[in-house]
Amino acid sequence: MNAIIRNGRVIDPANRRDDVADVYIADGKIVASKSEIRSPESETEEIDAENLIVAPGLIDLHVHLREPGFGHKETIESGARAAAAGGFTTIVCMPNTAPVPDNPGTIAWIKDRASNVSRVNVLPTGAISKNLGGEELAPIGSLAQAGVVAITDDGHCIQNHELMRRAVEYARMVGVPVLDHCQDYNLVGNGVVHEGYWSTLLGLPGWPAAGEEAIVMRNILLAELCDHHIHCQHISTAGSVRLLREARARGVKISGEVCPHHIALTDDAIQTFDTNYKMNPPLRSQNHVDAVLEGIRDGTLSILCSDHAPHANFEKEVEFDAAPFGIIGLETELGLFLDLLVHKHRTIDIPRLIQMYTVEPSRLLKIDAGTLSVGVRADVTLIDPDLEWTVKADQFHSASRNSPFDGWKLKGRAVRTIVGGNTVWKL
Ligand SMILES: [Zn+2]
Repeated sequence: MNAIIRNGRVIDPANRRDDVADVYIADGKIVASKSEIRSPESETEEIDAENLIVAPGLIDLHVHLREPGFGHKETIESGARAAAAGGFTTIVCMPNTAPVPDNPGTIAWIKDRASNVSRVNVLPTGAISKNLGGEELAPIGSLAQAGVVAITDDGHCIQNHELMRRAVEYARMVGVPVLDHCQDYNLVGNGVVHEGYWSTLLGLPGWPAAGEEAIVMRNILLAELCDHHIHCQHISTAGSVRLLREARARGVKISGEVCPHHIALTDDAIQTFDTNYKMNPPLRSQNHVDAVLEGIRDGTLSILCSDHAPHANFEKEVEFDAAPFGIIGLETELGLFLDLLVHKHRTIDIPRLIQMYTVEPSRLLKIDAGTLSVGVRADVTLIDPDLEWTVKADQFHSASRNSPFDGWKLKGRAVRTIVGGNTVWKL
């Protein structure tokens, strides 16, 4: 619980800090100086961070932990271990489990389970609608009281705009943000890949960009109407970026997040029919990838996350149409974003990348995390931005292996993850 992290480059965007210094941890909290560490020197952990970045513990606000109900894909325990190995100290889990957390009892179960088996902070979301059915609202006030950090129907999308309006109004009353998986069911139909050249050539049902953009537009209108924050999950299209940019410039309470696969890959990957390239929303064409990168560069897209979506091999190893959507991402996302956004495309610098993983999600969710301020819980991620490594899916801590990035050579990764002053993972 007591430690000194020496000589690292301390990047703490919440405090506009970027300098080489020591960081002190006493009783699991960040303290200002060595003199506040009471334990004898022999019992104080010394961590050498020379040439490393010392960042506030990273937050991933879009993770599927699959429990309760789908422990063969992932458990809270295995997902939390994957998070720690990816450099994450706080993860936010999505509600498409069985039972669905559309009631305080299931939220209590998740929190209890996490406190017993997880070494990282697990923050639950509650469902917007009962059983994610999109027909009837969940008891949003009770969910907020039970401690959800947001409401979302992720994996599903409420089609009835009036119902969504009432959800946003309730969320505003109880002070939780609304996260939304943007998918117009009528436009998307049974689409499984981006509607364009490859869907036509391969004869796979297309998922048009407009299917996302129609709901992003709906959310902008409702955020404005209700004067409350709606956060659009896993943004993948040029039109969504354009809509968000214009709305944010007008001061609408709207934001968007990016997953690594939507910038690392395009839909030409689906030629192989490998179902590890099947996700929702789908991989897009290069013009959409370029627009998403531009949205990251100019701040329109403000949060990075994984959409970590574990599936067992037997579920993914079926024909493309029948396979479930989604890939795992906790153990590759930081490496991919450092490699692509910082080193390869020079879209953003490292302090901005850390900001998008710390201050931005903590501000959206109004949680006590994402900074190295004196007095806060000592959640810290040590990052080697220049470490070259190869992704090895067979070594993942996740219970699933559905990653398209196996064998990729990346530059940059977390090397140690500290939660409440305790090292929970190190390379
Ligand atoms: Zn989703």
